[in-house]
Amino acid sequence: TYFAALSGQWIYTCSPHDTSITCPVCGHVERANRLQNEHRFVCQNCGYGADTIVDDDENAARNIYERGKANLRKEFGNTLST
Ligand SMILES: [Zn+2]
Repeated sequence: TYFAALSGQWIYTCSPHDTSITCPVCGHVERANRLQNEHRFVCQNCGYGADTIVDDDENAARNIYERGKANLRKEFGNTLST
């Protein structure tokens, strides 16, 4: 927030609820998707993350980013660039 303000940018926040256990491919939400001991994400529904290693925290961060973009589109329409 501090550095964004310094450079004249703004930030947008959204709820991170369930983002660490949500599959970005099929949308399946399940606690077992997150293998916390291995820091991996493996979707129990579609298998995303089974063949290639997906970091659980990185997956959550991407879900938050996508959720934020979706919320912004709801508020401001498609005038936003990606
Ligand atoms: Zn999935």
